[in-house]
Amino acid sequence: MIIDLHADTISRIAVKGEHLESNSGHFDLRRAREAGVMLQVLSLFSSERDSNRALEDVLFQIDYFEQEMLSCRELAYQVRSMQDLEDNRGQGRIGLMLHLEGGEALGTRISNLRTLYRLGVRSVGLTWNRRNLLADGVMEGAGGGGLSDWGREVIDEMNRLGMAVDLAHISPAGFWSVIEITKKPVIVSHANAFAVCPHPRNLSDEQMLAIAENGGIVGVTFVPDFVAERDPSLEILVEHICHMIKIMGEEHVALGSDFDGTETTVISDVRAYPMLIAALEKRGLSEVQIEKLLKDNFLRVLKDIL
Ligand SMILES: [Zn+2]
Repeated sequence: MIIDLHADTISRIAVKGEHLESNSGHFDLRRAREAGVMLQVLSLFSSERDSNRALEDVLFQIDYFEQEMLSCRELAYQVRSMQDLEDNRGQGRIGLMLHLEGGEALGTRISNLRTLYRLGVRSVGLTWNRRNLLADGVMEGAGGGGLSDWGREVIDEMNRLGMAVDLAHISPAGFWSVIEITKKPVIVSHANAFAVCPHPRNLSDEQMLAIAENGGIVGVTFVPDFVAERDPSLEILVEHICHMIKIMGEEHVALGSDFDGTETTVISDVRAYPMLIAALEKRGLSEVQIEKLLKDNFLRVLKDIL
C-alpha cells in the first residue's frame, strides 16, 4: 500500500472539467486503485495573490471535489480523522485528504482557517513560492523573510485544530521560525535533497536534521528539476531517498509525487510506483525501510497531528 503526500489533481481537473475517477493526468482513482494507493493528499491551489479571489478559487475546488466524490463512493472516501482511516481499513477504497497549498485564501481572518478545517482541509502550506501575509515563499530569494505575527497565529491555531503544517515552498527563514514555534511534527510534502540536486526548492542537510529532530517527514518528489539539473532519472530519485535516510534516518522519509502539479515527472504516472519499489529493492533497501517510506512514516505523523 502507498501513501502520497502531494498531488495537484483537483486544481487540474477543475480547470479542465475532467474527473477524479478517470482523467488524462498523472493521477486518477481507477489507476491509483490498481497501483495500491491507500491515501492521497490532494492540494487546493490558487495562483491569485488577492486573498478574496484565492478563497473563491479554493472554495470552488472544494465544491468540485465534493461533486466528484458523489460518483466515486465505491472508489474513495475523504480522510478527516484517524478514525476515517480505521473505519475504511481493508475495504480497498482510497482515502483522500485535502491540503491548502499557499495561505493567500486565509486572508487576515483566523475564522477562514477554521472554516476550511470544517470543510475537511487537514493540511496547510503557508506559502507557495511567493511572499504572502503569513511568510515569504522560497522564490523570494536571499531576501526572503520569516513568519509574520499573523503566520504565527495561524501555526498556533493549526496545532490546536489538528492540521498538518506543510513547509514545502517556504523561505529558509520561514522554515526556521516554524520549526522553532510548532508544537507538532512538520511535513515537507514535496521536496528533495539539496546535496544531491542544488535547487532552491530542495532541503539542506541542516533543514532535514531539524525535521528529524522535530519528528516530521519529507516527501521525496518526482519533479524533474528537483531530481537533477541534468538527465533526471529514477536512479537519481533513489539517490535522494538514500541521502535523506542517511541524514534523517528511515523514520522521516515519505513520498510526495507532485503528480499533476508539473508537466512531467520522473515516474510517469500513478501506475508506475512498482518501478520505484523495484529500484529501491535493487538498491538494497529492506522491506521494512520501504514500508516506512511508502506509508508507515506518514501514518505515524498523522496520528500525532490529527
Ligand atoms: Zn508545490
